[in-house]
Amino acid sequence: MVKERAHILVVGGGYVGMYTALRLQRKLRRELQRGEVEITVVTPDPYMTYQPFLPEAAAGSISPRHVVVPLRRVLDRCRIVIGEAGSIDHGKRTAALTTLATEEEGTGAQRLSYDELVLAPGSISRTLPVPGLAEHGIGFKTVEEAIGLRNHVIEQMDIASSTRDPAIRDAALTFVFVGGGYAGVEALGELEDMARYTARYYHNIRPEDMKWILVEASDRILPEVGEEMGRYTVTELRRRNIDVRLGTRLEACADRVAVLSDGARFPTRTVVWTAGVKPHPILAASDLPLNERGRLLCTPELTIEGTTHAWAAGDAAAVPDVTAGEPGKECAPNAQHALRQAKILGDNIAHSLRDEPLETYSHKYVGSVASLGLHKGVAHVYGRKLKGYPAWFMHRVYHLSRVPTFNRKARVLAEWILSGLFKREIVSLGSLEHPRAEFELAAGGKPPHTAPKDPNGSS
Ligand SMILES: Cc1cc2nc3c(=O)[nH]c(=O)nc-3n(C[C@H](O)[C@H](O)[C@H](O)COP(=O)(O)OP(=O)(O)OC[C@H]3O[C@@H](n4cnc5c(N)ncnc54)[C@H](O)[C@@H]3O)c2cc1C
Repeated sequence: MVKERAHILVVGGGYVGMYTALRLQRKLRRELQRGEVEITVVTPDPYMTYQPFLPEAAAGSISPRHVVVPLRRVLDRCRIVIGEAGSIDHGKRTAALTTLATEEEGTGAQRLSYDELVLAPGSISRTLPVPGLAEHGIGFKTVEEAIGLRNHVIEQMDIASSTRDPAIRDAALTFVFVGGGYAGVEALGELEDMARYTARYYHNIRPEDMKWILVEASDRILPEVGEEMGRYTVTELRRRNIDVRLGTRLEACADRVAVLSDGARFPTRTVVWTAGVKPHPILAASDLPLNERGRLLCTPELTIEGTTHAWAAGDAAAVPDVTAGEPGKECAPNAQHALRQAKILGDNIAHSLRDEPLETYSHKYVGSVASLGLHKGVAHVYGRKLKGYPAWFMHRVYHLSRVPTFNRKARVLAEWILSGLFKREIVSLGSLEHPRAEFELAAGGKPPHTAPKDPNGSS
């Protein structure tokens, strides 16, 4: 029984948003039935994205639909609102929401009142003022970006295969990735592997015709798997003819030329930017306290410091790492923490509504696994270091155990089994991005793909 009726507003439907709401649904089942509690989840997409599977989705090993989890099905006792919170006035306990309907009606943002706030909008790509980046860079955080990138890479191979101009061919077959964390390294590893395989179906493209370049500003990659495994990954990628440039920055990418700080210049139509993340800008549009890096200042109980009835976790939150033994150390922005924090967060909201003591979040980082392409990987988990096939296998087992819902586990497993029996998917469905093109042509209009190509090279 809760003290008084409560409306819980969850902003964000990612790891933290979905798992917190799921936990609340279970913990407050009777209160929800009696109407004493209401949970609203506001999120721009009707699904949660399992981001660690994005590189495999880009490589075609998993269908895009299976790397996302439908929120309406999982959170069947919550109200799901597809929209975005634009600002939060916690003093007045209100959030300004924009939904598809408010846009259609032209009424501006709606104000939604709440009693308890869970702020979990995650992070966005951390970009730098690199000339040309905003116009030509490609991100790798969403399922749309992952599938768009897959289509783009195959489309570049089609361009290279059909052009007579060696400069166009060279630029089309040059792929630059900036940032050597797991998103960049896994995306590069999976896509290079996919493109190498796909090349066998082109009569005039050999794998060695393609240039894959990884640019990393620090002197190591994959810090998540430790120094030794990071060094192994560099050696392994270089063995595959991938040009790994450590201590190097992208200085410009205007006019289809990537200019690096070591003086190298690569004509290219593909610059993938995975150089870290920063907290979501909505945090700055709230009256809640932030640290110097713009993350929400949180307590180990996952409340927002100096406030009541406000909670946060995940990439948006600076949660003290109580296992680190050094004051001021925060939990890193990763799924391992986000998932575990969400469970404690859900429990603590239930405790607080029932006037019970709160639990403290404590989790020691256990290491990480990364896939570098089919049957290739690297892992450093619970002190064990693995390379090659065993690491790749562990990566699959680990993520299969983690991807939410039995439905998604079964579908992903079925896809892996089928892809072991049949040849890899090499099709690009880039035309899905322009579904009206065919009809517009038939109706006498000008289809989008006959318009001049954008400078990024994607039609
Ligand atoms: C390619 C890739 C691979 C990764 N691999 C790993 C891995 O192997 N291991 C690991 O530990 N971590 C990995 N991560 C990191 C991990 O996915 C994140 O740390 C985790 O998703 C953070 O959870 P979150 O809930 O804070 O944010 P998210 O899961 O990003 O969720 C944020 C949610 O908020 C929504 N939102 C945004 N703005 C608003 C708004 N204004 N109003 C309402 N909702 C909003 C978003 O749409 C999203 O649904 C990877 C990340 C990427 C991009």
